Amino acid sequence: MEVNCEGCAGCCIDWRTIAPEASEHERRGSRKPLDNAYNLVPLTRGDARAFLDAGLADALTPRLWEDESGVEVDGVELAAIEGKPAFFLGLRKPPKPVAPFGTDDADDSSDSDAVVPTWLPTCAFLDPETLQCRIHDEAVYPTECAEYPGHNLKLGQQTECERVEAAFGGDRLLDDEPPRALSGLLLGPQAIGEKVFVYPDPDELEGVVGRLLADELTDDDRARFVAAAIAGRPGTTGTDRETYDDALVKARAADSWVGRAIAEWEAMAADDEPNPSVAKRVEEERGAPPTPGW
Ligand code: SF4
Ligand code: SF4
Repeated sequence: MEVNCEGCAGCCIDWRTIAPEASEHERRGSRKPLDNAYNLVPLTRGDARAFLDAGLADALTPRLWEDESGVEVDGVELAAIEGKPAFFLGLRKPPKPVAPFGTDDADDSSDSDAVVPTWLPTCAFLDPETLQCRIHDEAVYPTECAEYPGHNLKLGQQTECERVEAAFGGDRLLDDEPPRALSGLLLGPQAIGEKVFVYPDPDELEGVVGRLLADELTDDDRARFVAAAIAGRPGTTGTDRETYDDALVKARAADSWVGRAIAEWEAMAADDEPNPSVAKRVEEERGAPPTPGW
């Protein structure tokens, strides 16, 4: 597997609004996510623990699904396992000023042209100026990102790299041989408690589901899911309540550069011209790790 990521960031950005044809690959089948995120990165339990320990729990957000045979909360039938709402834990995507799918490198053979800076939902950890990941070399770098698009290749699914090629030209997926080892490819029962989590008590989600549908989740709502993911007993739908309570306290206390930057990006997107260079002030001056550039 080999990918050409320079100037791309297609798997880190929700670029449906600038795509010639928007892909809805996450919304096929009977189970529909309640949120409208694109390319949500499903974190493992180990990832979630690393984010919590690094004080970055305020970067995380859940994904739940509608399912007619599930459990009802706030008038919505939620996909559930043994009566407990199932969820993924992913990374938040605030609006950021980004210009993906091009390159300033005159020697680059890509025939794609850079998109002008535009406000697009973008991973909380993507530097909008360099289009590089701020946590690439850190302990919190998600397994799914480290192995992307390995899982797609292994399962014979279209990759984001190919969608970018189809929409904007250039060569992104240079070698489509799946990697031999994929630690994050968890399917079926082995995914429960490792990548697919359950919330222990559906009654505690009253109001939360309504806010999720309205895109109005609070910090406290998100913290509950972080705690539930970390406290789940792998391979079962059980939850260690003591671990849940400890993790909830820690998740609620998260007040990182990410959470603060997200609040500013959301406020700026309403009125300001999209300018990627403001990321130094919005993110780096708050403590975000810089990126090396290409
Ligand atoms: S879509 Fe593919 S080429 Fe583009 S940044 Fe992601 S992995 Fe790299
Ligand atoms: S963590 Fe990094 S690689 Fe993964 S989606 Fe976010 S910016 Fe992209």
